[in-house]
Amino acid sequence: MRDSMVEHEGDREARRCGPCSLCCTVLRVDELGKLAGTPCSKLRAEGGCGIHPSRPGICRAYRCAWLEGRFRDADRPDRLGALVDFAPRGADLELVIVEAHPGAFEASPRLREIAEAHRESLVVRVSDTLDVEDPDRPYRLLMAGGIEQRVCGERVSILREGMPASEMRLPWLERQVRRLAVAWRRRRLSRARQRGGG
Ligand code: SF4
Ligand code: SF4
Repeated sequence: MRDSMVEHEGDREARRCGPCSLCCTVLRVDELGKLAGTPCSKLRAEGGCGIHPSRPGICRAYRCAWLEGRFRDADRPDRLGALVDFAPRGADLELVIVEAHPGAFEASPRLREIAEAHRESLVVRVSDTLDVEDPDRPYRLLMAGGIEQRVCGERVSILREGMPASEMRLPWLERQVRRLAVAWRRRRLSRARQRGGG
């Protein structure tokens, strides 16, 4: 995470964060009371981390899929306009695309190409960094067979290629789980701030 000194051997090994610092906005850093989706207060105006030698553990550990050698060399997240990574989805994985700016996914043929290449085997979740603590914020799930779910609050629009869109409500349990997760996260962050971490 935002360490321009990261260097490795070979394809994966040659990659480095360089001027990218997208994960410093996308990720949550509890030690700093930093919400996911908000730029870190430790980011320097000229780029780079202002507390690099003592940055929290998650910052040391985190390596996005691109830095781990996935996708093309040219697909560094700041160039792509989105952080692309894999995340747990039940017992499986999903591909998560978090746009740096709303609309980045639709504007980028390469991001859409990556999504198309994965959606037959993994659910692809597309979201942005706006209001990431809001359980009602919209996101899209791209699935196999050309199916897409657009989730906004309790409403889910289901789109299928060549078929009329249909609507359903998000299952009650799933919605409650989202609300509880956000409430728990806010509580932890509030405690971290009270401890003076932010
Ligand atoms: S998003 Fe990836 S490439 Fe960019 S700073 Fe974070 S780990 Fe490095
Ligand atoms: S502490 Fe440094 S590495 Fe961690 S999120 Fe903030 S700017 Fe990025």
